[in-house]
Amino acid sequence: MGRYVENKCKLCRREGMKLFLKGQRCFTDKCAVSRRDYPPGVHAQKRAKVTDYGVRVREKQKLKRIYGVWERQFKLYFQEAERMKGNTGENLMVLLERRLDNVALAAGFALSRNHARQLVNHGHFAVNGRFVDVASFSVRPGDVISVRQKEGVRKQVAEAVEINKSQPVPAWVEVNRDNLTVRIAAMPKREDVPHPIQEQLIIELCSK
Ligand code: SF4
Repeated sequence: MGRYVENKCKLCRREGMKLFLKGQRCFTDKCAVSRRDYPPGVHAQKRAKVTDYGVRVREKQKLKRIYGVWERQFKLYFQEAERMKGNTGENLMVLLERRLDNVALAAGFALSRNHARQLVNHGHFAVNGRFVDVASFSVRPGDVISVRQKEGVRKQVAEAVEINKSQPVPAWVEVNRDNLTVRIAAMPKREDVPHPIQEQLIIELCSK
């Protein structure tokens, strides 16, 4: 799958909110949204009022950018959310939250979402003892995620854990920082998703 390689801070400025794409830097006063709270581009500040359609498109873009998924993969998530029982918007958020790269980030095992994705793609995590190198792998309650027994990898993850130790960990993820494992204690709920997304707007857009 492709990877966004341009300046990530521009994505946040475009959405007018912090998407937390650069790890610890996002929590400092170096954050571009804190310093330049307007969209990137020469004429961006003169742009006309956003339409209802535009608001919905932006909401979808925010969600895709937070989780780092492209349009094609997003559509697959949406279709799966529609097929599931219950509220489609909540299903969509929960599906994204269950991604293995998201779990690695939420557990504090990586410094940023890109770092988490790289660790997964390089096969540095195992789920229930089997190595998984697919960032979109969907975890389930009871799954145990462990870090590969390779000194360099464990050192890298341990450093990230130390840096992130003050970061809150979601209730559905149980982290053992000593042996670098994560147990999925429960299925995440909508209220466990920390991002201020109005998923109903996305559903209105995508259901047409
Ligand atoms: Fe976004 Fe982080 Fe850059 Fe701030 S520092 S603009 S939150 S990526």
